[in-house]
Amino acid sequence: MESNRADTVLRGIAIAALALLLLVGIASPAGLLGQPVSGNSAAPANREPDARSASDAATAAGYAFLLSSKEHDYPARWCAGTQLRYTIDFTQAGAAGLDPAEEVRRWQRAFSAWTEASLGQYTFVYEGEKQLSTVAEDDSFEVDVDSIDEDTIGITYVQDDDESQPYYATAVRGRTAGNGGIQVVSRGTQEGSALVGDKGFVMIDAEDAATLAATGLRETLYIHESGHSLGLGHVEAAQSIMNGTLSNSRPDISEADRQGVRALSRMPCER
Ligand SMILES: [Zn+2]
Repeated sequence: MESNRADTVLRGIAIAALALLLLVGIASPAGLLGQPVSGNSAAPANREPDARSASDAATAAGYAFLLSSKEHDYPARWCAGTQLRYTIDFTQAGAAGLDPAEEVRRWQRAFSAWTEASLGQYTFVYEGEKQLSTVAEDDSFEVDVDSIDEDTIGITYVQDDDESQPYYATAVRGRTAGNGGIQVVSRGTQEGSALVGDKGFVMIDAEDAATLAATGLRETLYIHESGHSLGLGHVEAAQSIMNGTLSNSRPDISEADRQGVRALSRMPCER
């Protein structure tokens, strides 16, 4: 998500380097998803005709999905009926003056909005505070998905001011206020078996969140990034919560966003 306002940019993400790491130790195909991306050289995925068709249809419908790789644009999604857990690492939030209890309520509202939009196909339960570890190979803070439990979305606050300090994340540098994504795994061995969600993550630039509080856009940011953690990608429509730019018009979950999350819930899913 980007903004005309300075310091208020959001991003739906694929972290290519992390995606490659994730390929190790996970049943192929697997990938960490984000925006349809350049430079993602994830291993070949199985063909998935049904999901591919759904992805093609999404453009005209006004919603978009996060894709497993540049070469294999299969939407990632959680299986319908999944109760997802989420944890929050507040370590960096305090430095920005964010109150953990209030933040929990904001995330609850953000996820509740998606439960409603999905007609109850996705429900969420807050599992409490949990520190997330980083990927050791990178000086920057990138979430080590090994520290996120299965069927769980790991939320963490990060900073882009001082790379010598903890929770420095290149992913939110400059005008980027957050990012989110989903890791998928293949749940079946058959050709065409579904790539389904395994873990999700959200990173929030703590300073940007504090700045956005005054504009009312902080909750927009949280709904947007949690939408990425469900598998939704960016769209152009200004009224969509999944527009990549934060706008003063405070977009809410649009009808197209609702159709998008419902389409995800209808895709074949094998657990
Ligand atoms: Zn985004």
